[in-house]
Amino acid sequence: MNKLYDCDLIQDLLPLYQDEICSESSKKAVQEHLEECTVCRNTADKLMNDRIEKLLIQEKNKVLVAHKKKERKRTFTIGIVTASVLMIPIIVCLICNLAIGHALDWFFIVLAAMLVVASLTVVPLVVQSNRGVWTIVGFTGSLLTLLLVCCIYVGGNWFVLVAVSCMLGLSIVLAPYVIHHIPLPKFLRNQKGLLVMVWDTLWLFALITVCGIYVGGSSNYWHIAIGSTIYGIALPWIIFVIIRYFPVHTCTKIGLITMIVGIYSAFANDALTWLSGYQMGGSILKADLLSDFSTKNREVLNANILLIVMIALIFVGAIFVVVGLATKKRAGRS
Ligand SMILES: [Zn+2]
Repeated sequence: MNKLYDCDLIQDLLPLYQDEICSESSKKAVQEHLEECTVCRNTADKLMNDRIEKLLIQEKNKVLVAHKKKERKRTFTIGIVTASVLMIPIIVCLICNLAIGHALDWFFIVLAAMLVVASLTVVPLVVQSNRGVWTIVGFTGSLLTLLLVCCIYVGGNWFVLVAVSCMLGLSIVLAPYVIHHIPLPKFLRNQKGLLVMVWDTLWLFALITVCGIYVGGSSNYWHIAIGSTIYGIALPWIIFVIIRYFPVHTCTKIGLITMIVGIYSAFANDALTWLSGYQMGGSILKADLLSDFSTKNREVLNANILLIVMIALIFVGAIFVVVGLATKKRAGRS
């Protein structure tokens, strides 16, 4: 076969040919060459298929973007309508409150309550990005406002106490989500778990402090409250550090945690007694396995049970640790 043009030249021309933007003479040359050359014909077919596929993807994306835009606009409109509906009880209450001569007292309670409703219904519909986080922020803010208004209305002094309790409860449930979704400085991006733990711990201590101030806590209060709180949060912290930072096999982590939980719960009474300065129930130190379980002495019986549970958990944990270490060693070798 004697081709008039070089295949490379024809293939360079193919895109222009398929777009129909080459000159008449080039078009003719390509057509003639394609009739003769199977290789270039195949290339032309493949090129055409690729272009069609690309066009289809572009078209699909365009449709999706348009749909999303439309959907967003609709949601926004529904949000605005909901907000307007919520305005009705607010306005009615405003008029009633003024009409019966009260100086807008309970109106603010209705307003704040409606803000809570709005934070859960209007905010997720109206906000364009990071809806979850904004809804949580809105809900928390409006809930605190409602509490403040109620507190002022009844002349109470409990606002800070209730607010800090709410913040602790909400933080435990929602802080992981919020911290996962908000932009963080670079050095904190890999420390979200740590951030959640610190945040919750701070709120817990804030609650202990506020309670202490509220009840006019004596030095006994601070001793017991801080001592037992430290012991209480020690376990979650230890488990967190092991799971997050120990570079060992999962089995080893499970084993370590099991052993620690065993020791932690067995010595809970002793540790709390030591930390708080008050006798907090029985002590494992009273254990005496030599006296059989028919002993009438409850303290010894309790201590024996604690000791046996601890030994069992340490034993089970040790098995996990050994399995984990063996698995890691074998994985490292292979
Ligand atoms: Zn060719």
